[in-house]
Amino acid sequence: MFKWLSTIISLCFFSFNTAQAKPFVFACEPEWQALAQEIGRDQIKAVSATHGRQDPHFIRVKPSLMSRIKRADLLICSGADLEVGWLPLLLRNGTKTIQAGQLGHILVSDYVTNIEIPQILDRSLGDIHPEGNPHVHLDPKIILKTAAIINERLALIDPDHKENYAANLKEFETKWLTATERWESARKSLAGKSVVVQHKSFSYLLQFLGINVLTSIEEKPGIPPSARHLAKVVSTIKQNSTLAIIRSPFDTEAPSDWVAEKTGVRIITLPYTVGGLPETTDLYKVYDQSIELLSN
Ligand SMILES: [Zn+2]
Repeated sequence: MFKWLSTIISLCFFSFNTAQAKPFVFACEPEWQALAQEIGRDQIKAVSATHGRQDPHFIRVKPSLMSRIKRADLLICSGADLEVGWLPLLLRNGTKTIQAGQLGHILVSDYVTNIEIPQILDRSLGDIHPEGNPHVHLDPKIILKTAAIINERLALIDPDHKENYAANLKEFETKWLTATERWESARKSLAGKSVVVQHKSFSYLLQFLGINVLTSIEEKPGIPPSARHLAKVVSTIKQNSTLAIIRSPFDTEAPSDWVAEKTGVRIITLPYTVGGLPETTDLYKVYDQSIELLSN
């Protein structure tokens, strides 16, 4: 009787474990959660530490994040110090496999060339892009490259499903390349135009589209503008033909509102990532909607 009962218990335990055995992907930002989901589909469980209307530079480490990181098999973050204010604390509580140098550790910036690396860095000024621009998910080529890295790691973490991951990657690559051609065609009408940005969140996308950035409302990344700097921004806009002032859904509105009022130039809030605006429910829509907003 006891033996029979223990067999039932162990069977229950086995099925519980199987249900839990899906690789658990802990993304720092929604774009990497969405990308992991494209490759892993229902073979994985993916979560994001931040949501689309949160500034990924600054979040509070909540206990719920602490408990999630303890289960992670794969970590995917932008890197280049984007998460320097909160990821180290989380990692100290994370599994061995997601630590730096391990199979389950992906910082996308380690695999790409970051743009806007500062010539002279003075951290005392509070520059939050010390390793160059960390907002790498807005370059379609970087998305493609990261998709291949995610596939490679998932295949090693969960070899039973490696064929599924490879097939999903292939399908994603085909779809993404077709979409990239569509986005590239938008360059024709946008290349050579100029914008002012609030924070350098969109540099990769603007570079891809050939759009010039005249100046930033922030004096340096992460540094709120002084009155003197704002006056300079206004005069730059007045001296140049400016398409728009670009900001993200989580930027503080006051400085860009003020500049818009002084110059009459419109503000465009781009989605920035998945969930940034209500319509942006996947990575394709982040690009589609951004280009549509810039084109109209
Ligand atoms: Zn930034």
